Amino acid sequence: MSPGFEDIMPTEYRELVERGPFGKGLGVSDLGTFKELLEEHPLCAGCGLALSLRLILASLPNPEDTIIVGSTGCSALAFPQVALHNIHSLFGNQNAVATGLKRALKLRFPDKIKDVVVIAGDGATADIGLDMVMQSWFRRENITTIMLDNEAYANTGGQESGMSQEGTVLNMAPKGKKFPKISLTEIARESGCAYVASGSPVHPKKLEKIVRRAILVARETGPAYVQVFCPCPTNYKFKPAEVQKRIKERIKAGTYRIVEYIAPEAQELINQLEGGKLMSNKICIRMSGLGGQGVVTAAHILGSAATRDGKQSTVNPFFGAEKRLAPAESYVRISQERIYERGEILYPNIIMIFHPHVITLGKCYTMPFFDGLQPEGKVLINSDGPLDLSQEELGILAKLKAKIYYIPATRVASEIGGTELSTNMAMLGGLMGIAELVSKESLKEALLERFGGGKFVASGTTAALDDVLKSKYAKLAGLIEKNMEVMEKSADAVVEFLFDNKAKELGGTIVYVAAKVTEEKCIGCKLCVLTCPDPNVIRVLMPDKKVQVDENRCKGCGLCVEICSKGALAIVGN
Ligand code: SF4
Ligand code: SF4
Ligand code: SF4
Repeated sequence: MSPGFEDIMPTEYRELVERGPFGKGLGVSDLGTFKELLEEHPLCAGCGLALSLRLILASLPNPEDTIIVGSTGCSALAFPQVALHNIHSLFGNQNAVATGLKRALKLRFPDKIKDVVVIAGDGATADIGLDMVMQSWFRRENITTIMLDNEAYANTGGQESGMSQEGTVLNMAPKGKKFPKISLTEIARESGCAYVASGSPVHPKKLEKIVRRAILVARETGPAYVQVFCPCPTNYKFKPAEVQKRIKERIKAGTYRIVEYIAPEAQELINQLEGGKLMSNKICIRMSGLGGQGVVTAAHILGSAATRDGKQSTVNPFFGAEKRLAPAESYVRISQERIYERGEILYPNIIMIFHPHVITLGKCYTMPFFDGLQPEGKVLINSDGPLDLSQEELGILAKLKAKIYYIPATRVASEIGGTELSTNMAMLGGLMGIAELVSKESLKEALLERFGGGKFVASGTTAALDDVLKSKYAKLAGLIEKNMEVMEKSADAVVEFLFDNKAKELGGTIVYVAAKVTEEKCIGCKLCVLTCPDPNVIRVLMPDKKVQVDENRCKGCGLCVEICSKGALAIVGN
């Protein structure tokens, strides 16, 4: 904002400058704490497309240097409310317009990164604009194409699109669609895209990851395509609150395929960008927990997965009396280069606290629990909500620029895995959520090796623990599948603790129906923030991270009520 203009600029503009995401490196995990790029939009209550758009905008790696090209469809109704340069193109022309724009920007700003991102519906991408979309891929244009796939022409009353499933009946397709859904991800791969992925808003952090990967690959390597499943409650005639359920059912049934194809040169770039910085040096992880929590097993699985990814790794368990609830620690080192050190890790980059008592009752070999933490290190704590750390402790951690994350690991383990014994898997999933040190495939293989007859035995107790966990499942396949699910869910359940945000007072009265939070029940997990299709509605209040709904902005779709496992949200009216 130019000096002297502050007073005459609209409030929304000033808010964006002061509290917006520009140049701050914020992402999906920070939603609810900053002014979003999307403002109140006219899309329907509970619209899956609106939720996806909200998450995509929060995922942009450099929003300040991003230009969006849109096309006709429901999404076009939201673009006037997007605080980015965006161009509306004629129906189907979006990739041709984006091509010209990207080339012009390269000439005009040769030394600057300018990301050109197409965001359009399935009609514009897979039907009317398919020719221009594919030609841009054939020509290897450096643009990202994101399809918001609501499987219909939704804002014209509900016609079938090429992306609708076979047999789909809509208002204007009363006899049911005669042809199968187009496999545009496969077409994109064959047409020269360097990066192709599909996702959905039920996994916000995964969606963020694929959007970022796509944009970074498009910048450096070649065209990228991301397809996002966004069910339309209005045309498919289901309750808005069921959007998430619908997505999960379709993915589980295999009728919406989640894929990721990465060309070798793009993979190299992704490795460099995501792993290079982190892995050029050794990463030291200290795991502190209580006897019986599987701290040793978690370390073994992590180390084993790292070696399967071609890295070097060492793992050392450390415990005194082998009894339940006695302190237990494990140390994992992971590096691209040979590791010479062994034993206790005194200066960790990452600390994982498997039980709150490690901190609150001092059940730990290392006191305080963050002793030796490296600057900008990370702490992942298994707890349903923030623990009562002293001002002094918070001060030291803030000075270190440490990042603290909470994860309800035991709860996720019980709810998904059916046993608290999977808490260690939930912690590993949480670790993947904050630092992708190993691949999912390698974790699965390591899990299989550990429980499928591998020879690792740290002690009689760890072997006995393995047996107890195995006894919870009828078959090995069930154990692997459930524990992988625990890990995946946990990666999404991590919540970052923010040191410096002040609580914001929100005004407003209920005018019709809106979601209301029962503060005592809210544990600050933020799932509702990542589920609401409307921007700036649910905000995170500091310091305890409970949420507050702005009733004036809420459309009462009920999606947040469905997702909240604590029953802290309800739709109320006057
Ligand atoms: S018609 Fe469907 S896709 Fe369009 S805004 Fe409404 S719910 Fe969203
Ligand atoms: S209201 Fe529910 S979903 Fe939202 S942060 Fe609180 S506990 Fe989590
Ligand atoms: S706060 Fe809840 S009910 Fe309101 S719009 Fe968001 S998800 Fe829907």
